[in-house]
Amino acid sequence: TELGEPENGTILSRFGQHADVEAENGDCIRCNIRRGVKSLVCGDKVLWRRGKETQHSISGVIEAVHERASVLSRPDVYDGVKPIAANITQILIVSSVLPAFNPDIIDRYLVAAEQTGITPVILLNKTDLLDEASKAEIEQHLDIYREIGYQVIYVSNESQHGIEELKKQLSEHTSIFVGQSGVGKSTLTNTLMPELGLMTKIVSENSGLGQHTTTVARLYHFKQGGDLIDSPGIREFGLWHLTPAEVYGGFIEFEDYLGGCRFRDCKHQNDPGCALIAAGEEMKIHPKRLASFQRILASLGDNKLTSRFND
Ligand code: GDP
Ligand code: ZN
Repeated sequence: TELGEPENGTILSRFGQHADVEAENGDCIRCNIRRGVKSLVCGDKVLWRRGKETQHSISGVIEAVHERASVLSRPDVYDGVKPIAANITQILIVSSVLPAFNPDIIDRYLVAAEQTGITPVILLNKTDLLDEASKAEIEQHLDIYREIGYQVIYVSNESQHGIEELKKQLSEHTSIFVGQSGVGKSTLTNTLMPELGLMTKIVSENSGLGQHTTTVARLYHFKQGGDLIDSPGIREFGLWHLTPAEVYGGFIEFEDYLGGCRFRDCKHQNDPGCALIAAGEEMKIHPKRLASFQRILASLGDNKLTSRFND
């Protein structure tokens, strides 16, 4: 079949040998993926061509993938890791007061985010549920993150507090929402994209191909600017197995001290001459972050912690 000139486009979603491509003029075209184009995922920037005739509603061909600025991958039994989305620029780690605010889980997400090189931002949702006591305690903890250099945003989907600030933060980024179940990711997504619920319904009623659209990663545009990539798999980001090296790299403010322990195999728990423990005592790193680091390291051997994150 005859094809048009090569055009740039963005992968909105990929299913098997097909993908939905967004053209630069906003058209959405279902395309075949040319053999030889390897590992195409949601968010990829591609070169593609329009078909002159439409066959079975497939009307284009993807010919090449541009280099990725970032990639989010998940562990895979066969390949080691499997990419699930590309060119994400921001990971929003959502937390709340109900389920209870849990810094260990935030730290674990931060470790996973630092591993990807994508900027994490910490979001506290449900501020409407804060009472004076819990507010003081949580603010104190979130200030620790601010001092490290992380951005922290307070929002309430209920009272709409902070929603404008959140919209601003999401514009000009390709973001994902991660966080424990129940913190309000779906509710926030619906607030920011009221048309989304409708759209997924329409797509899945459409055809056989559409059945997959609710489980594979998909890219959406916010009306006020910025993109969101979402899928059940993406929401599990950060719950995967971590190695000690990843944990070391994920506590970014520990970097200057990590090489300074007396023993090379220091476990940083109560080892003599531990430079991290000394730094904690001198308040050069926050003792709460150190304690969380120690708990995460200690948990790597057993599955108890991991299963707690898998609710
Ligand atoms: P997800 O599992 O992270 O997607 O969480 P959901 O979006 O399903 O939200 C879990 C529950 O929290 C729902 O019952 C929401 O109505 C509620 N919720 C979400 N945001 C807020 C908020 O800002 N304040 C209050 N009070 N409840 C909220
Ligand atoms: Zn040490």
